[in-house]
Amino acid sequence: MTRIANDPDTFVDDALEGFAAAHADAVRRVDGGVVRATSLAPGSVAVVVGGGSGHYPAFAGVVGPGMAAGAVCGNIFTSPSAGQAYRVARAADAGGGVLFLFGNYAGDVLHFGDAQDRLRAEGVDARTVLITDDIASAPIAERARRRGIAGDFVVFKIAGAAAERGDDIDEVERLARHANERTRTLGVAFGGCTFPGADAPLFTVPEGMMSIGLGIHGEPGIRDVPRTSSRELARMLVGDLLHDVPETRGDRAVVIVNGLGSVSHEELFVLFRDVSVELRAAGVTVVQPEVGDLVTSLDMAGASVTLVWLDDELELLWAAAADTPAYRKGAAVPAPSSRAVAAPIESPPAAPPRPVATPDDRRRAEYAQGLLRAAQDVITAAAADLGALDAVAGDGDHGVGMRAGVDAAVAAFDPEVGLRGALTAAADAWSERAGGTSGALWATALRRLASELPSADERSSVTPAELASAVGAAVDAVAERGGAVIGDKTMLDAMRPYADALRAGATADVGIRPLLTDAARAATAAAEATAGLRPAKGRARPLAERSLGHPDPGATSFALIATAVARHLEQNA
Ligand code: ADP
Ligand code: MG
Repeated sequence: MTRIANDPDTFVDDALEGFAAAHADAVRRVDGGVVRATSLAPGSVAVVVGGGSGHYPAFAGVVGPGMAAGAVCGNIFTSPSAGQAYRVARAADAGGGVLFLFGNYAGDVLHFGDAQDRLRAEGVDARTVLITDDIASAPIAERARRRGIAGDFVVFKIAGAAAERGDDIDEVERLARHANERTRTLGVAFGGCTFPGADAPLFTVPEGMMSIGLGIHGEPGIRDVPRTSSRELARMLVGDLLHDVPETRGDRAVVIVNGLGSVSHEELFVLFRDVSVELRAAGVTVVQPEVGDLVTSLDMAGASVTLVWLDDELELLWAAAADTPAYRKGAAVPAPSSRAVAAPIESPPAAPPRPVATPDDRRRAEYAQGLLRAAQDVITAAAADLGALDAVAGDGDHGVGMRAGVDAAVAAFDPEVGLRGALTAAADAWSERAGGTSGALWATALRRLASELPSADERSSVTPAELASAVGAAVDAVAERGGAVIGDKTMLDAMRPYADALRAGATADVGIRPLLTDAARAATAAAEATAGLRPAKGRARPLAERSLGHPDPGATSFALIATAVARHLEQNA
């Protein structure tokens, strides 16, 4: 429950501003996140971390000598946008390349991936290592699909120490991967967390129970078991962790007992005590442990245990000094150089002269603007329900993300530049403001729609066949970008039947209004039918069973928009 806030919509910015002001000697606010206030040694690797907000001290709190060079800060539990990641990386870059480190979530992969492409195109050696420490989120044979939780901190620390001592980007990347390979986490939740402004938690754990395998976005655990003593809990967590180890395990491990937001440190120490006993009994030597809140989930009541199986090179880097707002270790890091702060943020390129549309093209654009506004209205009305649906097995942010995206798209949509230009600007704005998987994919869809629609010509309308073909291409683009197939329980399961219905109707030459109404019906039925599917993609995948019986949030919001668009046309016939 958030007790101190202004407007929930400005919570993230307000908190980040306060954080930067409180740590003005350590960090500098840039558009999209923070970077160190002091410069990196010229030519060194910039380790740039990030993800959604709500996880403090991840991610802004670990920026400083010996750890990250910058942190990209998205909305609560929502991946930052590609633009944010790009700008923070630019500001952090010291000439030695940029290494992005973040937990393995679809939205982050899409947005950071775009930023990486953009940096590379500009000659910056940008790389990525995904963090996949959560053993509850996929079996060991599918380690690459696991999500990143408290192990984020470990990989940041190891890579940050390597960058600090002057390793080049090949080496920093290798060590980050190596650290991730040898880091495993398992957690437990006793109670859910509440978004700023919300009056109920994202999920609840039944009285007297605890939920093993929690995520850090309020995703509930994968199995509920009766609450036990700390000793029993330690036995359970350590038991599972000892069954999920790297091939060459060794017998020295860092142990992290991490609080998720509202468990007292004394309780964490009790758990650490019992975890140590279990590990000692298993012949494991505990090395330089950490107990505290390192990667949180708003005010979630929960804790996790991370084991980092050490070898000599990891142990050396783990022991290295660090000096960040939220985490200090060892002797002070050498005083920062007085050199001016690294690469300044690029000022946005001057806006190109705005093309003025022909009157016909402007009319097409105004028509589309009406449809986009209809989408905005339905999303505004449904945002809370979409959030609740996403909280069943995902992270509860789908309503917030869709609303931020469509609001930004409406604001950016300018009919004066014509249909394609206005749609492209709306797509960029959607991605930039919404972040998240759905933000990236909706932007992809709108961008492709814009490029596939016939260019401005002397006609003020689009034919059903042109529309069907453009929508089909947009859906292909979503499939390609997100890598999902039909049946994976994603928005694609509603989008594909919609596109198919449009194509079939266009061939049969029904008018555009009945065509869109029929297609919307097909999308709605398909979205409802996703209730019977198990998710194979995205944040809901680790909680597939829980998702059964509930439709997919992204498919549902798509069907709502399709229906609103059709209704708008019927009403404005
Ligand atoms: P996030 O998953 O980043 O929190 P949202 O909650 O806004 O983003 O969106 C979740 C929706 O995104 C899911 O309900 C699903 O429809 C869609 N989705 C997730 N992964 C994919 C994918 N790989 N391809 C297509 N759609 C996806
Ligand atoms: Mg979500």
